[in-house]
Amino acid sequence: MSASIAIAIDGPVASGKTAVGKEVARRLGCRFLDTGGTYRAVTLEALRLQLDLDHDSRLTDLAEHIDIELVGGPDGDRWLVEGVDVTDELRSPEVDRAVSKVSAVSGVRAAVVPQQRRIATQGPIVMVGRDIGTVVLHDARVKVYLDASPEVRAQRRCLEMEQSGQSPNLERVLEDLLRRDRIDSERDDSPLMPADDALIIDTDGLGLEQVVASVIDHAGAA
Ligand code: C5P
Repeated sequence: MSASIAIAIDGPVASGKTAVGKEVARRLGCRFLDTGGTYRAVTLEALRLQLDLDHDSRLTDLAEHIDIELVGGPDGDRWLVEGVDVTDELRSPEVDRAVSKVSAVSGVRAAVVPQQRRIATQGPIVMVGRDIGTVVLHDARVKVYLDASPEVRAQRRCLEMEQSGQSPNLERVLEDLLRRDRIDSERDDSPLMPADDALIIDTDGLGLEQVVASVIDHAGAA
């Protein structure tokens, strides 16, 4: 793959973007960036600093000055905020609850998106998120939008949580997922939606291997 090649994968909560994106990147020898991590890092720091999440300019100021680093480790990439490894905290229920509110702030997006684009210029990449095909890498030749029914997505998220030692409640997980999807889809700046030229894959009833194969086929044909 040439340095300019990028694969943009978008989709709602728990649509399988991360698992699919990581595997596609591994097979094609590209780097992988889960852009949700950048919004989660800003959110985690905002919560740590006890910022008022209704105060857009404070959140913007934080996003403009925060030091976020992604470093490779033996068990995958680690997220550092101000030099501290926060990878595990990024997935906490507190961050889950607040992240869509923080990411809806235009100033936060304006600070974060150029960093994501800079990473994409450093070599072949698979990038996953909500606005990769529509905004961040709108010139990407390969765009995919993964979807699945809310029920299937909630079940997948519960399974992930159980695997990490939590005891999720399916109904609450479903409610939280629908709430986040609504905020992400209805915001004014870069709402969640498929790019006009994205391949839309409904992953209900599909296994990881089938979805990965479809994305790689599409990348080969693009
Ligand atoms: O993908 P993940 O669940 O980690 O994303 C967390 C949140 O970050 C999303 O719910 C969304 O609010 C925000 N996000 C975004 N744009 C992206 C990636 C994530 O607004 N490209």
